Amino acid sequence: VPEGHTLHRLATLHTELFAGDVVAVSSPQGRFSDGAALVSGRRFERAHSYGKHLFHEYSGGTVVHVHLGLYGVFTSAAGTAPQPVGALRMRIEGPRGYADLRGATVCEVLTPEQCDAVVSRLGPDPLRSPNGASRSFARVARSRAPVAALLMDQGVAAGVGNVFRAEVLYRAGLDPFRPGRDVDGPTWTALWADLRRLMRAAVRSGRIVTTRPGDRASPGDTPRAAATHYVYRRAGLPCRRCGETVRTEVLVGRNLFWCPGCQPRRRR
Ligand SMILES: [Zn+2]
Repeated sequence: VPEGHTLHRLATLHTELFAGDVVAVSSPQGRFSDGAALVSGRRFERAHSYGKHLFHEYSGGTVVHVHLGLYGVFTSAAGTAPQPVGALRMRIEGPRGYADLRGATVCEVLTPEQCDAVVSRLGPDPLRSPNGASRSFARVARSRAPVAALLMDQGVAAGVGNVFRAEVLYRAGLDPFRPGRDVDGPTWTALWADLRRLMRAAVRSGRIVTTRPGDRASPGDTPRAAATHYVYRRAGLPCRRCGETVRTEVLVGRNLFWCPGCQPRRRR
């Protein structure tokens, strides 16, 4: 499931692959044919991301906005594109390579003003906003919603998904069900800083690793997949630190994972 770091990496990749070149854009599946016709033959200026949104800027100010949703996938390669297969929503072909988009929730042509409107509805992106802690805390501090729900609210923190929310709460030792208004400022500031650290590391490596070397069976810089998380998808397994059984429950439509030992409910 793509989280903010995935979009950040795609933006870099697409900029490297297409920036400065005139590209052909098509929709072999047909669903994006009208949009593709508006940008095909233009120069691809650059790609950038904000939260889980990806933007391709073309000469003349036209922008293609993509949101992958749960099932969207971009693939790309150097060289000439093969014959299209399957439900290929958008294909971009440049002199250096091509990129294919399948299964996205959103793929549309926007004006720069419409792009600004998309971004203005989002909260700070930990990858983009060094000072986002105070802006997001303003929302958190007046909400009765559980902090685990607020972390998934793109108006609070853009780009955070299910893995980062579970892991950052675990690392903070924070009860995921604590209401936002009961989270104090220093706790949120520290959590935000940790989120930035984890997301930037994921941009560099392409994977989400939240465990500290000392909490893995075999310490090292590149842990195996089974050792990358504390609680995410570890329901029923013993906590790496305290041995309590990791729990799961659906919150905001997605499975939340936490350790009742390391993230205890606060007595009131
Ligand atoms: Zn624990």
